Amino acid sequence: MTITVLEPHGFCAGVAGALRKAVSAAEEASPESPIYCLHELVHNELVVADLRRRGFVFVDDLSEVPDGATLLFSAHGVAPSVRDEALARGMKLIDATCPFVMRVHRAARAFRESGLSVVIIGKRSHAEVQGILGEAPDAAVVGSVDDARRLSLPPDAPRRLGVVSQTTMNADDVKEIVAALSSRFEVETLAEVCNATKERQDAVKAFDGDALLVLGSATSSNTSRLCEVSRAGKVFRAGSMDELRAIDFSGVADLGITSGASTPESFLEEAVASVKCKV
Ligand code: SF4
Repeated sequence: MTITVLEPHGFCAGVAGALRKAVSAAEEASPESPIYCLHELVHNELVVADLRRRGFVFVDDLSEVPDGATLLFSAHGVAPSVRDEALARGMKLIDATCPFVMRVHRAARAFRESGLSVVIIGKRSHAEVQGILGEAPDAAVVGSVDDARRLSLPPDAPRRLGVVSQTTMNADDVKEIVAALSSRFEVETLAEVCNATKERQDAVKAFDGDALLVLGSATSSNTSRLCEVSRAGKVFRAGSMDELRAIDFSGVADLGITSGASTPESFLEEAVASVKCKV
C-alpha cells in the first residue's frame, strides 16, 4: 500500500492562535480558580482533553460560569449579547475567536445595518452560526440548495439579501446555494469558506487514490466536510488511536491521509506511523 499525506495539514492559523491564547492563559489557572471555556475551544477531542488536564473547565452555557471568573471564548466566536452579559457579570474575557469568523460577524452586521435581509449558509446548531445569528437575529439559515429554493421572507422584509457563510462549509455547496439564492433574489454576498477549509478540500478532491483516511473528530465540521468531498472509493475517519486501530485497510492499494484544521500534528504523525506498521 502506498501512503500519501495530503498538504496542508496541522493546525490552521485560527486554531493555532486560539491555542496560543489558551496555553498562555493556563499559566494563571489553579484548582481554586480554573479558566472556563464557553463550548469546546476547537472541535477536537485530543485538544480538549489536553486543555482539561491544564485546568480548563468547558461549559455550554454562560449560566454555568461564576461571576468574576476568567472566561475564554472559543475559536467559533460568540454573539455580542453573550460578551455583554459576561462583562456585566465581571468576567475577565479572553477572546480566541478566529479572525476569519470575526470577518463573517462584521459582514453580517454590516448587511443588517444596510437594511438587507441577512442569510447565513450553515448549520443552525453549530456554535459559529449561533454566534453570527447574534449579529443578525432575524437572519434566515440555509444549509442546502433545497433550503435556498424554499426560502421565503416575511412580507415586510427587504427583498435584497446579504449572504454570509459558516467558514467550514463545503465550498462547492456554498457556491451552489449562492447561485440558487441569486436566481430568486438580488444578492450581495461575502459567503465563502475560509482558506484553510478550501485548501484542504481542494487537496482531497484532487487525490485520485482508492481510499482516504481523514483524521479528526466526528464533531468537527471541517473534518466532516473532508470526508464528504472525497472522490476516493473508501473514506475512513479516525479521531483517536483507538478509532484508527479499529479500521480495516485490507484491499487498499493507494491511501491518502488528511487531517482537519483542529487535528494535532502529533496525532497525524502517530497515525501515519501506525498505518505504515500495518502494511
Ligand atoms: S478552520 Fe478556518 S475559520 Fe475555523 S479556525 Fe481555522 S482558519 Fe478559522
